[in-house]
Amino acid sequence: MTYKRRDFMKTAGLAAAGVSIAGSQRLNAFSNKNIIKGNNSKMELTFKPYTLQLKHVFTIATSSRTTTPVMLTRIQYDGITGYGEASMPPYLGETHETAAAFLSKVDLSQFADPFDIENILEYVDSLAEKNAAAKASVDIALHDLIGKMIGQPWYKIWGYDKNKTPNTSFTIGIDKPDVVRQKVKEADEFKVLKVKLGRDTDKEMIETIRLVTNKPLVVDVNQGWTDKEFALDMVYWLKEKGILMVEQPMPKEMRDENAWLTERSPLPTFADEAIQRIPEVVAAYGAYSGINIKLMKCTGMREANKMLNLARSLGMKVMIGCMTETSCAISAAAQLSPMVEFADLDGNLLIGNDPYEGVRVIEGRITLNDTPGIGLTKV
Ligand SMILES: [Mg+2]
Repeated sequence: MTYKRRDFMKTAGLAAAGVSIAGSQRLNAFSNKNIIKGNNSKMELTFKPYTLQLKHVFTIATSSRTTTPVMLTRIQYDGITGYGEASMPPYLGETHETAAAFLSKVDLSQFADPFDIENILEYVDSLAEKNAAAKASVDIALHDLIGKMIGQPWYKIWGYDKNKTPNTSFTIGIDKPDVVRQKVKEADEFKVLKVKLGRDTDKEMIETIRLVTNKPLVVDVNQGWTDKEFALDMVYWLKEKGILMVEQPMPKEMRDENAWLTERSPLPTFADEAIQRIPEVVAAYGAYSGINIKLMKCTGMREANKMLNLARSLGMKVMIGCMTETSCAISAAAQLSPMVEFADLDGNLLIGNDPYEGVRVIEGRITLNDTPGIGLTKV
């Protein structure tokens, strides 16, 4: 079927107001009770495995790799398609197989109204304990669908100001000095670099980069320091080198030591591995200055937005991060970016086979577009 955009937006407005409407063509003819559900009125979820090829070997404190498995999802409803994605770096424990098994269980046809988001996502969450990325792939596709039905991007639906988007950092993985220098040169466009630390070459990494650039840096230790006194010395040293913040300095299990460090640290500390979903935000309060929200850890945009607002209510700082993922999940995460202190949304820029185009980085800054939904401009 083809859409008349004006009818479409009217319908969506009514649906947002709580009126269940199965199809836009029925706008004037039926009361809520008399809606006849046609073939077009059911949400249908489909998914496709895909493998991202990384431009560089990606090394962090605990692993190296050259590919990332993702699952690309779609929810179709009444002629509209919402797009989603699960990115599954190996250390998170999800695979093409586990995502396919999970998504096969999801039956969205039982929900008549896509705007019933809270119930739909509660149902999706209830299907398994884990599978956070697979759950996010449904959440993102549903948000994309609903944004398209309303005719607005999510940053607007949430009321966020697109003029407040931050610069994104660009990640420099642990590597030999000549490779590090090369990567820093390639990252010329970016205003902030994120440096992976946590091995025995930390000072060498920073000194190598400082020979090439004076840009502000953020560092991600990925739980690599295990001694709090050493961590505090490092943080002071890093501050002198122009570092802005430190992500997950010590193992997530060492909450008290991380709290000790945060209390004394001249730089803000951010929890990443220690943060999954809402309960961990509460646990991180007092132990870190801020949290790193990632859609693939927290089951998607809906919970991410709740975490963002909870953390801010607690007086904590927020950053939004990502996995290596396509422009689909990156664009979805970017919708929240006007509300964060730091953004690390470079995951799509690290891959060579992105099937989508969406929210872009322009002169280092996340630049939201007004495409309805999650901001995909080419699918
Ligand atoms: Mg991190």
